[in-house]
This record gives sequence, structure tokens and C-alpha cells, in this order.
Amino acid sequence: MAKGLVIILSGASSVGKGTIRKALLEDPDLKLFYSISMTTRPKREEEVDGKDYYFVTHKEFAEAVKKKELLEYTEFNGYYYGTPKNQVEFLCEMGKNVLIEVEAQGVGPIKLNMPEAIAFFIMPSSLEELEKQISELYKDDDATISRRISKAKMDMELAPLFKNTVVNNDIEKAHQQIKEVILAEMKKQED
Ligand code: 5GP
Repeated sequence: MAKGLVIILSGASSVGKGTIRKALLEDPDLKLFYSISMTTRPKREEEVDGKDYYFVTHKEFAEAVKKKELLEYTEFNGYYYGTPKNQVEFLCEMGKNVLIEVEAQGVGPIKLNMPEAIAFFIMPSSLEELEKQISELYKDDDATISRRISKAKMDMELAPLFKNTVVNNDIEKAHQQIKEVILAEMKKQED
């Protein structure tokens, strides 16, 4: 059986990766399975443990790091996030296509482990647009907002390293652009 594809969705923080991810996961042509990350961030009201994330304590996260159970991990806004290795490997071996969503720094370590992974970098239509989005989306104090903006600027400097960059000024267009690449890769896999 052919192995499944590993698709990485990344990009500047607060650029709308989550919405694009949802559109991709709901697309029946792509048959994508979501890699559920582990995080120490508290669960938001609308989130479900084991579906959106595995919500764990610092101790449990540190244990997973120690046992080398994560493909990559990072600290973001004071919390830890990581991609469980077993889950991705298991799905791939079963021939399933796996979608991993990570912030920009998470891509390198995954590609080191899985060079065949296909990474997409989502860009905002402009920096001004992203700043507006961050200020509207997060009801944070000014210092946190400017931290988020500088993190997004730093993330965007990584964009030239990606073969597949997608500007998110229209969710449906971004979805279709990514879908075309994935379908072409799926076709190659079948041949
Ligand atoms: P949020 O707290 O808003 O759900 O996610 C914060 C950021 O962490 C987002 O940019 C999201 O893509 C990223 N993220 C989620 N899971 C992982 C992961 O397993 N690894 C890394 N590196 N980033 C992640």
C-alpha cells in the first residue's frame, strides 16, 4: 500500500490558517486526516479535548518531549504546542493523507524528519491587513498585540524558504490553490 501524504499548513501567525485548515478537512476530494497537536494552553470553550488538541499539563508535555514522542514542538505565547509523532506515522503507514497545522518555526523539524512532506506557507494580503486582523481578533492589551505583530513579521521572513506560498485574501481561492497541489501529489502517488 502506498504511504499517505504529509501536508503541512503553516504561515505568519494570525493569518487565518485555522479557517483554511477547516475548508481543507471538509473537502471530500482530499480525504485528509488531521494531526491533533498536544498543547499546554487552556482549552477554549468551543474546543473539544482530543479533537482540536490534546490538552495536557506542563508535566505531561515535558514527559512527551523527554520520551521523544513529538515530531516538533514550540513555545507560543507562553504555552507549548507539539506534534505527536506516532499519530502522523501511523496514519501515513495506513495510506492516509495527514494534515499538520503548525506555526512557522515548526516546519523545519518536520521536514528534517519527513523530507517528503509538502509544506504551504500562508501569507496575509499585506502587513497592514494582518495588523488590522490581529488587533480585531485578539482583545489583548497593546503590548501583547505588538508582540503578536512582531512575531508575525518574523514568521513572514521565512516565506521565501517555501515552494508553496498562498496569499490568504480569499479563503475559497486559497483552498483551491492548495487543493490543486495536493491533488497533483495524490495523482503522482497513485501512478
Ligand atoms: P492557538 O492557540 O491559536 O490554537 O494556536 C497558536 C499557534 O500554534 C497557531 O499558529 C497554530 O498553528 C500553532 N500550533 C498549533 N499546534 C501546533 C504544533 O503542534 N506545533 C507548532 N509548532 N505549532 C502549533
